[in-house]
Amino acid sequence: MAELEGFEFGKSDFVLLDEVTMEQFLENLKLRFEKGRIYTFIGEVVVSVNPYRQMDVYGKDAIDAYRGRELYENPPHLYAVADAAYKAMKRRAKDTCIVISGESGAGKTEASKYIMQYIAAITNPSQRAEVESVKNVLLKSNCVLEAFGNAKTNRNDNSSRFGKYMDINFNFNGDPTGGHINNYLLEKVGIIAQLLRGGSDELLKSLHLSKDPTDYTYTSPGASVSTSSSDDRSCHRAVMGALKVIGFSEEEVSSVYKILSTILHLGNLHFETDGESVQVVGGDSVRHISELTDTEPESVNKALLYRTVATGGGEVIEKGHSEQEASYGRDAFAKALYERLFAWIVGRINSVIEVKNYNPALHGKNTVIGVLDIYGFEIFDNNSFEQFCINYCNEKLQQLFIELILRQEQEEYHREGITWQHIDYFNNQIIVDLVEQPHKGIISILDEACLTAGKVTDTVCLDSMNHKLGQHPHYTSRKLNPTDKSMEFHRHFRIRHYAGDVTYSVEGFLDKNKDPLFQDFKRLMYNSSDPVLKEMWPDGQLSITEVTKRPLTAATLFKNSIIALVDKLACKEPYYVRCIKPNEVKSPMLFDDARCRHQVAYLGLLENVRVRRAGFAYRQPYERFLQRYKMTCEYTWPNHLMSSDREAVEAIVVQHGFEGDVAYGHTKLFVRTPRSLFTLEQERAALI
Ligand code: ADP
Ligand code: MG
Repeated sequence: MAELEGFEFGKSDFVLLDEVTMEQFLENLKLRFEKGRIYTFIGEVVVSVNPYRQMDVYGKDAIDAYRGRELYENPPHLYAVADAAYKAMKRRAKDTCIVISGESGAGKTEASKYIMQYIAAITNPSQRAEVESVKNVLLKSNCVLEAFGNAKTNRNDNSSRFGKYMDINFNFNGDPTGGHINNYLLEKVGIIAQLLRGGSDELLKSLHLSKDPTDYTYTSPGASVSTSSSDDRSCHRAVMGALKVIGFSEEEVSSVYKILSTILHLGNLHFETDGESVQVVGGDSVRHISELTDTEPESVNKALLYRTVATGGGEVIEKGHSEQEASYGRDAFAKALYERLFAWIVGRINSVIEVKNYNPALHGKNTVIGVLDIYGFEIFDNNSFEQFCINYCNEKLQQLFIELILRQEQEEYHREGITWQHIDYFNNQIIVDLVEQPHKGIISILDEACLTAGKVTDTVCLDSMNHKLGQHPHYTSRKLNPTDKSMEFHRHFRIRHYAGDVTYSVEGFLDKNKDPLFQDFKRLMYNSSDPVLKEMWPDGQLSITEVTKRPLTAATLFKNSIIALVDKLACKEPYYVRCIKPNEVKSPMLFDDARCRHQVAYLGLLENVRVRRAGFAYRQPYERFLQRYKMTCEYTWPNHLMSSDREAVEAIVVQHGFEGDVAYGHTKLFVRTPRSLFTLEQERAALI
């Protein structure tokens, strides 16, 4: 609960709304945004609205104001949350985590940077060199991941792909000693343009590239024609510098650039049928690819046009692709190249920042603050496999949120000696099961369809889902709606998510779920003479007869990674930042009601306030409560003569007649509804 500043800036905590309605929520959010108050609490959660302008609230003064203070002592701020997470970690040796969610462009990555900067600013007061160097590498690794994991999309100049989780390790002094990064990547190509555009002419020439992103199929959609801007050049320089600080060798950096270029060249070749056989068309692309990947041009050509298969009799034969298969294979290869490059970069960074030689006996307990920067619920006009994955992830995070908030509440009640109050809330386990349950859930049905030989199409798979899940209370088959005869609905299903209904188009689900990469490409890469490239493709050494096990599907891999993520978070004390994008045009003035309403709904913020208010909306140490309200009661003003602050607080409560609305803890007063507090606030305001 924030210090109750006057309400002229709106309510600094949403639990203080008169009623928890969308209208009131939005009204308060808008008022605060317009008054330049971009942060608002929901209890300990910070809601942030992207200001789209430089705010003067992150300087040294601000850092000092929040440092070591309690959450309610200052106005809502990221620093309040960062400090709370840090304090819990340092004082109580708790592992903590900060979950930052919101849609693309809502300000998640900026928020995570401010949080990291805050932590960097308040640690290592003695400026020990080895700690400074750890901090430096941690901050720099952010820059590299942003550069490689981001694309300039129409929605956001610098939007990250789905999610990133970073653990920062601390020693018993509370100083950073290292970290670890996990990345959750969904879309895989389309990142490369700005990185390459910033390169020198010489570099581009050696990679056989031009500066114009519209020259490349993979980068031209959405890319601006403008050639290298000073932004691109400084981005390029920053990334090169960061790679150096992190410890990438020159050879490694060069391999990275070669792989990025290979992807661009791949996109520029296509296929044509000439009589019986399929040919590669695309000028010098094959030659460039073979040069850049240190492989033979004939091998590249062959991998693009043929796949090796083992027949039932154990015979190994080569089968030519159709035009369509070949294009499909090429795109899968480009995606896999990018995915593995990215995974390798993350792996290299991790090996540099991992905590080494840590001896708990010598150095004390090693504690962690995790920072998760992740997409919130996503709902577009057309929702596909990616939204399905993201929304499933958010169901998991919501479940964790409820579980942990309830646990925290319970622990606090226990600490304060207050009887446990049952909190009524919607448990979304049922939706999580709908998606992930073995044999019965959507992912299982998808996987089954992918494993079935022959031509299972998206619609056949949808039939199977409709058949098996038609009765589920959170699943609606659009096909079963007899009044709707349009074909459109035959390709959709709908999930009733905790935050609202989302209709998904099943088109492309199966393709996106399969691992579409032919073994021939893996072998090609493993046989490269470039050691970096080879290292990324260890599975290329398997011969075709050894490759019998089906690779896990994309949905299952995703599910496993999210379950692992939730496990990581579940053992930590969580803090939350919910980010909102106020408009689509990056304006610092415009609060687009419809857009914000949408996000408040899909971030589950009303539910959030309800959970928070279901128990006690407000709590404060007796001493602080007394300080604020003692003038409203004759027995406590100017000083009370009672034997304890608690008794004095009781006197205030009784005088105002809300005994029924409070509980007395060992150190704090708990107030159930905010209304009582308003009465006090009003009286206080009238007196001062
Ligand atoms: P996300 O990671 O959620 O996609 P970003 O954090 O990259 O979004 O923010 C998008 C853009 O919005 C930033 O590049 C910046 O211009 C602006 N922005 C976001 N948060 C702030 C902030 N706190 N102050 C000023 N500008 C911000
Ligand atoms: Mg981001």
